[in-house]
Order: sequence, then C-alpha cells, then structure tokens
Amino acid sequence: MISEADIIRIDQPELTASERMYLPQIVDGMKTTLRHLGKNLLKNTFTVQYPEQKRDLRLQNYRGVHRLNRDEQGRVACVACYMCSTACPAHCIHIEAAESPWPDREKYPAKFDIDELRCIYCGMCEEACPVDAIELTPQFDLVGRTREGMILDKEELLAVFDQTAAMKPRKNPHVTGYAGTGSRSCSCEIPISHVPPSAAGASAP
Ligand code: SF4
Ligand code: SF4
Repeated sequence: MISEADIIRIDQPELTASERMYLPQIVDGMKTTLRHLGKNLLKNTFTVQYPEQKRDLRLQNYRGVHRLNRDEQGRVACVACYMCSTACPAHCIHIEAAESPWPDREKYPAKFDIDELRCIYCGMCEEACPVDAIELTPQFDLVGRTREGMILDKEELLAVFDQTAAMKPRKNPHVTGYAGTGSRSCSCEIPISHVPPSAAGASAP
C-alpha cells in the first residue's frame, strides 16, 4: 500500500490563450527554420540535388549493397565456411556449399543469396569473413519491383563486384591458409605462388 506521503500530486498547468493556439511553438519553429536558412546562405551549403548529383561517400567503410569478391583468377573467393551467415543477426544470408572444383580449397558456394530487404547493413558478415570474400559497397540505390527481386543471388553479387572493383579494390585477405583466395597485391605471409598451377586454368563459376 502506498502511503499518502509518498504520493506527489501534479496539477495540470493553466495554458494562456496564445499557448492554446500553439503560437509560442510556431514562433520557436520559425526561429529554427530561419536560423538554418541563414547558416546555409552564409556558408553556401545547399541540398544535394539527388539523383542528378550524388554525395561523395566513404568508399572504404560505407555499408551499402553487398558484393561477392572474385579471387585473382576470377573465381568466387568465398570458401563456403558459413561464418557470415552465422554472424548475420538478420538471418538474410543463404548459402549452399558444394565440393570445390578446384584443388586449393575444399568447398565453394553452389548457391549464395542475400535478401537485401531483410538486411540491416550492420557489416557483421564482412567482419566475419576469413577471406574477405563478402564486402559492403558504396552502392546505396538498389531498387526492385518485387521482394523476390531484392534477393541477390551469387551471379548478381559477383556482378556487383565487377561494377565496383575499380572504385573499391578488394582488400587483401587475412592469413587463413586459403592461399588461392587472395589478390595479386596480397601483402600477407602466404605467397601467391602457393596456388596450385592446376587451379590457375580452372573456370570461374
Ligand atoms: S550487413 Fe549485417 S544484416 Fe546484412 S547480411 Fe551482413 S551481417 Fe546480415
Ligand atoms: S564468411 Fe566469407 S568465405 Fe565464409 S561463407 Fe561467408 S563469404 Fe564465404
């Protein structure tokens, strides 16, 4: 039971006539609008005229549409380890692993889908990947007419890599033992010469 001494009674404040008509709030709002207008005019900062103009984005860490990277032989760099789908908090990555056709890795993704509508663009998949096969790109203007169209499959994710590789080159892979998944400019301790010669002629899926 609450004692009477613990109860704090708050009386409803009396509003003036102008407060009942929201006049102070309207004046405050107008002051804020005029302050920003003055700042923008003085500093010459204007709204970006999207889509004719696009903002310069941070290429290295902007979290936009995903891509699946290719290795130095044009193959999908993913080794189907499921680290990204395990780390994904939105459960929007679907991978089906298959036996790799190449001798330098055990598995590769026969299927690799990402539901771009379900994704929350947190970047956990990129952080989890041991071979830097999945990355988020500065592409932010992905559109689709259907929900199914916003589920990107492996070929579409590889196509995003082809479109963005010049703008954002692939990072070097971490040292993982997957020698054939790196880039030629790899500065890690596994030399590219470790890639078995037979893998060099393999076709990209
Ligand atoms: S960015 Fe986050 S939510 Fe999106 S696929 Fe990667 S881990 Fe999942
Ligand atoms: S973490 Fe990297 S290598 Fe592993 S399944 Fe995902 S994209 Fe492929």
